[in-house]
Amino acid sequence: MLRILTGQGSNTGAEMPDDPILVARNIGPAELLEYGRKLKGVVLEEGSVGSHAAIVARALAIPLVIHTSRITAEALNGDPILVDGDQGIVHLRPEESVAAAFRDNLAMQAEAQDRYASLRNLPATGTCGTTIQLYMNAGLMADLPSLEGSGAEGVGLFRTELQFLIRNHVPRRAELARLYRHVIDSAKGKPVMFRTLDIGSDKVLPYMKPQDEPNPAMGWRAIRVGLDKRGVLRMQLQSLIRASAGCPLHVMFPFISDITEYEAAYRILMHELAREQRLGHDMPSDIRVGAMLETPALAFAPKRFFEMCDFISIGGNDLKQFFFAADRENERVRRRYDTLSASFLMLLRQIVARCEEARVPLSFCGEDAGRPIEALTFAALGIRRLSMRPASIGPVKHLIRRVSISELRQVIDDAQDSGLTNLRRPITEWLARQ
Ligand code: PEP
Ligand code: MG
Repeated sequence: MLRILTGQGSNTGAEMPDDPILVARNIGPAELLEYGRKLKGVVLEEGSVGSHAAIVARALAIPLVIHTSRITAEALNGDPILVDGDQGIVHLRPEESVAAAFRDNLAMQAEAQDRYASLRNLPATGTCGTTIQLYMNAGLMADLPSLEGSGAEGVGLFRTELQFLIRNHVPRRAELARLYRHVIDSAKGKPVMFRTLDIGSDKVLPYMKPQDEPNPAMGWRAIRVGLDKRGVLRMQLQSLIRASAGCPLHVMFPFISDITEYEAAYRILMHELAREQRLGHDMPSDIRVGAMLETPALAFAPKRFFEMCDFISIGGNDLKQFFFAADRENERVRRRYDTLSASFLMLLRQIVARCEEARVPLSFCGEDAGRPIEALTFAALGIRRLSMRPASIGPVKHLIRRVSISELRQVIDDAQDSGLTNLRRPITEWLARQ
């Protein structure tokens, strides 16, 4: 059930009102993309902050509140409603005093944004002298202006499937090549890591036969689809190669679980490069190939895998769900496990060590990279590049510049050595003393 509410009073819901708030039991990423930035807020009875719908909402800067019980029964079309996505609070038919407090809060947030804007051209360098590269995640054309506005050094994750989700047909090669070229041109020389299609799981294409799988997150998705249905992967790689004529091309393969998948995807890319050259197309000036590390198995891959990669990016959303066996879309289990638990940080240390051994650059591009305390912790563990939604770059940079990353490393090492099971407390206590 979908319902559109508005602050404007007597709307019947027959057409989209001004400042619409969408109220629903749940929503998928494709549906949300269809509404796009027209929405001013989304309130769900179900949902999860780890879902792709939530990721799309964050990318579109639409406040989203989940687990609002009975809202579809209580709210009527045209009701005024206030949505605070940061605090997870919804006010249905608010009193004027509540609305006034809400407006004050918005003004304060605008001030904080101004403060962050003043950091835009400064590096994310801690007081110890360590610099962290801050990249942004993208996938929609609407994201591109943020590349300049946020001060991001590049796009660390371009989720190409979003362009497939907003259409009702498979995009054609020429259409995709134009689109990717537009992304590359908009980046004005900054690198863009294009991740090949990651469909499946909760990202269901409207024009693809739905797969009846018992557990889609662990099912036929991402590179598994790409390797089994090569036509689409090949077409996408051809588009990327053509779009990158005369420019560097970064290709990243999603959801790699073992070296053979990476090798197979790599071979397909090399095959397409040779084919494009044979056909006389202008070639990219440089090619970098990498993998998303989002299954725990890949952290234990043979050294040869790490050596084959030009870069690796940790997809923390999936890595965490598979590490803890806790569905990222199920709030009930997702929240039981903390990213700053000693065991998850141990896994990250292992990945950092494997990448250092093979001298392969490592980044982290899951949602946690945009949370300042988590971001700082990743930096302290040795991850030198973080990719996040553009709005998080200011707050993350602000925190990194205030503290010594190497001192935090010591705090983390000591806490881990002492046998603590969760490091959030020593980290926040140390931060409070700064
Ligand atoms: C991740 O899993 O952390 C990731 C960045 O990919 P997605 O959220 O698109 O699955
Ligand atoms: Mg993922």
